[in-house]
Amino acid sequence: MPDPETETSPTLCMPPVAQMRSKACAGSAWGAQRSMASTGYFIHRDFWKHDMGGGHPECPARLDAIEDRLLITGVADALSRHDDIPLATLAQITRAHSVEHLEKLEALHQRLVADEGVGGPSYAQVDPDTSLNRSTLLAARRAAGAAIAATDAVLQGELANAFCAVRPPGHHACRDQAMGFCFLNNVAIAARHALDEHGLSRVAIVDFDVHHGNGTEDILAGDERVLMVGIFQHPFYPFSGTDDPAPNMLNVPIPAYTKGMDVREMIDCLWMPRLEAFRPQMIFISAGFDAHREDEMGQLGLTENDYVWITDRIMEVARKHAQGRVVSLLEGGYALGALGRSVEAHVRVMAEL
Ligand SMILES: [Zn+2]
Repeated sequence: MPDPETETSPTLCMPPVAQMRSKACAGSAWGAQRSMASTGYFIHRDFWKHDMGGGHPECPARLDAIEDRLLITGVADALSRHDDIPLATLAQITRAHSVEHLEKLEALHQRLVADEGVGGPSYAQVDPDTSLNRSTLLAARRAAGAAIAATDAVLQGELANAFCAVRPPGHHACRDQAMGFCFLNNVAIAARHALDEHGLSRVAIVDFDVHHGNGTEDILAGDERVLMVGIFQHPFYPFSGTDDPAPNMLNVPIPAYTKGMDVREMIDCLWMPRLEAFRPQMIFISAGFDAHREDEMGQLGLTENDYVWITDRIMEVARKHAQGRVVSLLEGGYALGALGRSVEAHVRVMAEL
């Protein structure tokens, strides 16, 4: 990723036209390429700084795989890139999390920084799979900030829809607990922002990660302004989602080795009637790509074509009921090649490329 802070700005000795062109294209957002009502692509260099140790599958290289794929296929040029993203505020985060949760994370962070300063470890463990480094909370607040900024841009009509390539992911983060590589629940924070700040009365969350979005369920079960539909491998981490804890949750647990055609059938039979009846004013996607058949994190058999099909179905509902307003947030996806190709496939549908 280019670091704007280290890039030189060759403005001296240029003819005036070249200077003007340079100015038009300058800045972190490739501003000249932005246009009204296009698809937004939100990414920030802080997302690379969160790291849970060598060999951890939820690694910064995931973002390189996405960036490389979007660049080499030309898809990046068709998107409106946003990489100047504010941090989520305390008020925005506490729409989904308790103050105690944030205080616990902050205390862990402070202890880590103090210990590291005297030669201690560089990571603080939250659970066996999940740890903080000194940049984790910054990245997590930035990721939630991206979800909020994308929501604002879409609801204000500046963008038609948006994909946020965020790390850390969010859908396992519960109201009071970080777990499963997740610290703050980006999708729940953004959904509540759309409801409370923008005054929407119905938003849908669609989760097609291979894992059940237990954190999102924990936060939003019983909030009748939200309909959450999910499909995920079961039995599998986090071993929840076999019953629907509230009428606004529709869980579709599926066995290992289920392939794309069966997933499509279940989505058509189970998700679509509920989404149609709910008539969401906006749709959020917990876009995990670890149900891809090349992803060894899970044992489902989806391919890029299935992600195209699923995204198409979601966009269809969005166009019919929600003026096309969709914000998609990266969750899982750990086979780097498959992740890049799947994000490309997903974003191509959103951007109608
Ligand atoms: Zn996952």
